[in-house]
Amino acid sequence: QPVNITYPKTEVVGHGSFGVVFVTTIQETQEKVAIKKVLQDKRFKNRELEIMQKIQHINIVDLRYYYYEEDPQSDSLYLNLILEFMSQSLYQRIRHYVHLQTTMPHDEVQIYMYQLFKGLNYIHGTLGICHRDIKPQNILINPENFQLKICDFGSAKRLNPMEPNVSYICSRYYRAPELIFGSTNYTTKIDVWSSACVMCELILGQPIFPGESGIDQLVEIIKILGTPNKQDICSMNPNYMEHKFPHIKPIPLIKIFKREKDYLCIELISNMLKYDPFERFSALQCLCSSYFDKIRMNYNNEIVTNLK
Ligand code: ADP
Repeated sequence: QPVNITYPKTEVVGHGSFGVVFVTTIQETQEKVAIKKVLQDKRFKNRELEIMQKIQHINIVDLRYYYYEEDPQSDSLYLNLILEFMSQSLYQRIRHYVHLQTTMPHDEVQIYMYQLFKGLNYIHGTLGICHRDIKPQNILINPENFQLKICDFGSAKRLNPMEPNVSYICSRYYRAPELIFGSTNYTTKIDVWSSACVMCELILGQPIFPGESGIDQLVEIIKILGTPNKQDICSMNPNYMEHKFPHIKPIPLIKIFKREKDYLCIELISNMLKYDPFERFSALQCLCSSYFDKIRMNYNNEIVTNLK
C-alpha cells in the first residue's frame, strides 16, 4: 500500500559496508526512524528487503516503509529502507562500560542475551533464516528500558539444506569455526556461535577471540577451547580430516570468567562454544537454559522496567 510521507534527510548515524544510514523524523507521525540507503542492482531482487518484509518480531528492527530512488547522474538505483530507530548498539554499550572502567552488570547481560535468543529463535525456527553477521554493531538497544532488537539483514539468507552457501560471511571475531574451515553446508548454529562471542564480550568488555587475520582467528579459538578432535573436524568440514594441528589443551572457562559467579552462565557459554555444530546448542535450547529461569518469570514481552 503506497503512502506519502515527508521527512528531511538529516544526520548520518552509520556507515555500513553497503551504504549509509540516516536518522530523521517522519513529519506526519513524528516518529523517529533510521533510513538505510543501499545501491540496488537492477537485475536482481533485493534479498534484505524480501527478508525484512517477512519478519515481524519484537526483538527485530521493524521495516516501516521502503522506496526506490533513481540517481539520474550515475544511472544508479537506490533502495531506501525506513526502519524503526534505536538509540544505541551493543558495541557502544560495551564501550560505555569500558569508559567507566567497569563491565556490564550481570542482570543487564542476561536481559540482552534473553532477547537476542528470542529474536534468533524466531528467524531460525519459524522462518529458517540465518542472520550470518551477528556482532555487537548489529544488535541495537534502548538503554532506558533495556529493549534489544537485531538489525542488518544484509547478509541474511534462508538456508536450504540441499544448497551450498558461501563461507566468506560473518565478521572475523564472531565467525564460527566451521566457517573458518570453509564449510558450505553450515546451519543456523553459526549465529549461536556469534551470539556466544557477543555474550563473552558483554561480560569481559572485550572480544574473547580477537583474531588478527582469517587464520589467526582459529588460533585464538584453539588457545581457549583446545585443539578440535577428529569428530569435531569431521562435523565442521570433512575435507580437513587429514590436517595435523598442534595439540593444545583447553583452558577451563571458569578461568576466563574469573569474576563470573553464576555457574549457569558459564555452563550456557560452554554449550554454545562447541566446535561440533551438532553438539552446539540451538537458539531454542539457549532460551530454555536454567540461566534464564528468573528472567522468564518476570519478562512481559514488552518493556523490562524492574531492572536495577
Ligand atoms: P550495513 O549492512 O551497510 O553494515 P547496517 O544495517 O549494519 O548497514 O547499519 C550500519 C549502522 O547504522 C549500524 O551498525 C547502526 O549503528 C546504524 N543503524 C542501522 N539501523 C539502525 C536503526 N534502525 N536505528 C539506529 N541505528 C541504526
